Amino acid sequence: MWEFESPRGHHRKVVMSSDKIIKTEVLIVGGGLVGGLLGARLQQQKVPFVLIDPTSPQAMIDAVKDGRTTAISLGSKRIFEKTGIWDVYLKDHAEPINNIRVLEKGSVWSVDFDHKELSSDPMGYIAENMYFRMSILDRLQDDPHCFYNTSLSDIQKHDGNITATLSNGKIVHAKLLVSAEGRKSPTRALMAPQMKTRDYAQNALVVHLEHEEPHHNHAWEIFTSKGPFAILPLKHDEGKKSGIVWCKPTNHNWEKQTNDDLQAEIAELFPYYGKVKIVSKRWHFPLSTFELNKISDHRQVLIGDAAHAMHPIAGQGVNLGWRDADVLATKIIDNYKVGLDVGSETLCKAYERERMRDIKPLVKATDLITQLFSNDSKTLYAIRNAGFAVVNRVPPLKRFFMKQAMGLS
Ligand SMILES: Cc1cc2nc3c(=O)[nH]c(=O)nc-3n(C[C@H](O)[C@H](O)[C@H](O)COP(=O)(O)OP(=O)(O)OC[C@H]3O[C@@H](n4cnc5c(N)ncnc54)[C@H](O)[C@@H]3O)c2cc1C
Repeated sequence: MWEFESPRGHHRKVVMSSDKIIKTEVLIVGGGLVGGLLGARLQQQKVPFVLIDPTSPQAMIDAVKDGRTTAISLGSKRIFEKTGIWDVYLKDHAEPINNIRVLEKGSVWSVDFDHKELSSDPMGYIAENMYFRMSILDRLQDDPHCFYNTSLSDIQKHDGNITATLSNGKIVHAKLLVSAEGRKSPTRALMAPQMKTRDYAQNALVVHLEHEEPHHNHAWEIFTSKGPFAILPLKHDEGKKSGIVWCKPTNHNWEKQTNDDLQAEIAELFPYYGKVKIVSKRWHFPLSTFELNKISDHRQVLIGDAAHAMHPIAGQGVNLGWRDADVLATKIIDNYKVGLDVGSETLCKAYERERMRDIKPLVKATDLITQLFSNDSKTLYAIRNAGFAVVNRVPPLKRFFMKQAMGLS
């Protein structure tokens, strides 16, 4: 048994399974934003699973470790709702996005995406990653088959199952291995996929700001020749707090800039909210993308950043991962309920086929947009301006982009 303070401040005692050998249906390796959501979906439908993650629950919800905010699409919000975990924390801590304005520094063109053009629902929501993790942990932390502070010591694939030895000494026999350990997934190597990668030679700075004027639930993306700057509305009594994701080339030395320097640069680039003040620690993330030729193999599938990774320019990475988790959960639940093998080749291939139709175009489009908008070529500048003008004047095209952003396509 181990004990920790729950996200709600209650002292929790977690009963761990006393069996040394556990026979289960699914082994999820990695209980982050995507693996955790898959666990919550399976638990809700009473499908036996084991989830392991080397991180402690306390470290997972430590806002100081990951201050990122996530733009969750309307489609992803519906997945959280049907899993029964939206109301736990996100309902109170996620701020609606009603309008997205995209513009280029120095250009007269901008595109406004207003939720009213499609429906009365917001286009999506923004919340600090901590609240997504708290919602997932609230569901999983009492499950005796979710092992935190635990890693994989060995894994073997056999014809009819997989066998895993865990660092806590337990041996797990499962029908399906789900790799959900993020970009550097060690178990992905078992599948030996071909990987196409691109390093954008950019770093993202993430900070939280308070500002003089309210954000009115607007999200902004400003393209500069050095990289994009996004300012995203956060929950605050007066609507005066936002999260920033600011990408610059890796040779830019963020460390050299004091908060005063950064505030002055933000006020110049983004003069719309009055005086701004940095109210958080600063976090940095190197930016790259990759695409795989396969995301399934014998008794194994990849989900989330283990399966694909992209630039945060369009705020789509984890939304794509949540769709992986949702599609996979539905297939596992359907097979389990009628007594079919949840690790069969049929299931793994069907998952791969369905997800590749979503993953491939999105990874490619995000890569194209990143290159198109992080470049100071005069020709590309003209193409971008023409693009803004076309999107503004062709309502079906505008609605197409809005549906993509809202995860409704
Ligand atoms: C600056 C920035 C901003 C972003 N903003 C957005 C956004 O607004 N919207 C959006 O959709 N996406 C966004 N993303 C992308 C998003 O953060 C990722 O897609 C998301 O974190 C992927 O979740 P994951 O669960 O697949 O992987 P991770 O979040 O990396 O989680 C992996 C989990 O696996 C565990 N793990 C690691 N190694 C092992 C191991 N060996 N064994 C077992 N477990 C292991 C880890 O402890 C962790 O819990 C952003 C990314 C960046 C860099």
